[in-house]
Amino acid sequence: MDIQLYNTLTRQKEVFQPLDPQRVTMYVCGPTVYNYAHIGNARPAVVFDTLYRLLQKNFPQVVYARNVTDVDDRINKAAKDQGVPISAITEKYLAVYHADMDALGVLPPGIEPKVTQHIDAIISMIERLIANGHAYEKDGQVLFHVPSFKKYGQLSRRDRDEMIAGARVDVAAYKRDPADFTLWKPSDAEMTGWDSPWGRGRPGWHIECSAMIERSFGIGPIDLHGGGHDLIFPHHENELAQSTCAHNGAQFCRTWMHNGFVNINAEKMSKSLGNVTLVHDLLKLAPGEALRLVLLSAHYRQPLDWTENAVRDARTQLDRLYRALDSLKDVQAIATAAPAAFMAALADDLNTPKALAELHQIANAANKATDPAERARLKGELVAAGWLIGLLQQDPAAWLKGGTDADVDAAAIEALIAERKAARARKDWAESDRIRDELAARGILLEDKAGETTWRVAS
Ligand SMILES: [Zn+2]
Repeated sequence: MDIQLYNTLTRQKEVFQPLDPQRVTMYVCGPTVYNYAHIGNARPAVVFDTLYRLLQKNFPQVVYARNVTDVDDRINKAAKDQGVPISAITEKYLAVYHADMDALGVLPPGIEPKVTQHIDAIISMIERLIANGHAYEKDGQVLFHVPSFKKYGQLSRRDRDEMIAGARVDVAAYKRDPADFTLWKPSDAEMTGWDSPWGRGRPGWHIECSAMIERSFGIGPIDLHGGGHDLIFPHHENELAQSTCAHNGAQFCRTWMHNGFVNINAEKMSKSLGNVTLVHDLLKLAPGEALRLVLLSAHYRQPLDWTENAVRDARTQLDRLYRALDSLKDVQAIATAAPAAFMAALADDLNTPKALAELHQIANAANKATDPAERARLKGELVAAGWLIGLLQQDPAAWLKGGTDADVDAAAIEALIAERKAARARKDWAESDRIRDELAARGILLEDKAGETTWRVAS
């Protein structure tokens, strides 16, 4: 099956063809670990996890690298404010990030390079950029000289005035050109730093990804590079310039992909608006699987509007899907691929809204099917399609007991069911009905089958 992906570089959908059909290479800009991740940070992790899953089903090997920025000025400031080494900050928040992404069903990437472990690779790349005339040193700073790379701006398609304004530069005296950007900067004695040919210092942000991609994949183009839309300029434009120039003009990346922003109740997420929504907090209110479904409910290139209603709707959808799966518990799933229509939706530039609609179609068919062989096939399709978008991998009974109301007290419900069973045993039908009604009023529905009573949360 052909997979079509929208390439930011060419501004069109293209059939995705990896350089080596046996081995896809993919890099996504990961977190800067100095604080809790917000839901906007989670979107690329979930979007590119879904792509990673799709590629794994279509190619023999996919090498996925997602970096960790574990040194930068915000990390330095947090460490200084708290009087601790930067590793105390970065280790804490990387662990939080891993736990949050795990709750969202994000598979760990195959490689997770850290900046602090790649300083030698960064220095080596900067040395080559200086040697071939694309970078220069002034007062302990090393800068990339933008006019030295004629194709600069090809990814973001900005003109020079926009680039200079976008780079937010107050034109420092050490710059040969206002658009030049930092590769290396000096660190004072108190600040984290490493020895380099230009004195003790630390890397600029953009060079880290170029160096870690080179270290992870070698010289020559990677197949895919992803990140949030806000990274196109300057971050990815600069990565493209650095890597191309350090590699004597060799192509850096074949397909660039960018996901849209997450807005909160139709407003841009920002500290000044006080609406920064942390994954860590959302997970106290709703299961990670529901949050993931919300993140996949819009096409990845479109903005996504995060609302309480959207989360509620995702839980209701998952209740329906898990109920369909639960109704198939008497048949063994047949190992099968996801249905063609579902695959076609994902293969069309990761059209997850369409794929989710197809998933509901399978559930609808499962609810109607009576033939055991067909039900076994549909169960296999639900699980296979669910895996591709990172949903429906839990035990349905576990979801249906806790999926809708995080406050459901399972032990208290089981106790009432036991009381009801006792009432029925002594033929006290009035008491049995009273308990059933009491639970119904709390949104818990009982089902009596073959002498056993099971419960689920009403949706
Ligand atoms: Zn990056």
